[in-house]
Amino acid sequence: MKTLIHLIIGLLLFVWQLPQCLVGIGVILFYVLSKKDIRYQDGIAVVKQFPAGGVSLGEFIIIHHYCDDEETRKHELGHRRQSRMLGPLYLFVVGIPSVCLCLLAKKSKKINSTYYEHFPENWANKLGGVGDAKLKCDSEAKENDFHN
Ligand SMILES: [Zn+2]
Repeated sequence: MKTLIHLIIGLLLFVWQLPQCLVGIGVILFYVLSKKDIRYQDGIAVVKQFPAGGVSLGEFIIIHHYCDDEETRKHELGHRRQSRMLGPLYLFVVGIPSVCLCLLAKKSKKINSTYYEHFPENWANKLGGVGDAKLKCDSEAKENDFHN
């Protein structure tokens, strides 16, 4: 009975977050089919060649292997909670602002240094229970080591 309830809840969550879940499946499928270095740990896909630090697409979380640490996982789980709350609005309320902020952070050191203080990143940190510790992919370390 418990398994059936979990299955129904999972199905309802998938349908509620359908747009971002479909994108998430597409991204993971791309990495699997192109035989990229991908591993799964605790339901999170860790990809060596991922072009961003991390992304949460519905029930699917993808993290660059360099950024894979506890705080980043908490941050992405915070985004997953946002997705579960917002459903089909997630990509508009969180996804687009997050991508824009990320692009601005690449152009501006000031924005890069305060990246997690801005919406929707600060909200994801709060929901994920991220502490004061810097995220592994935060700061200049990202610039120096990200593509290694
Ligand atoms: Zn984020």
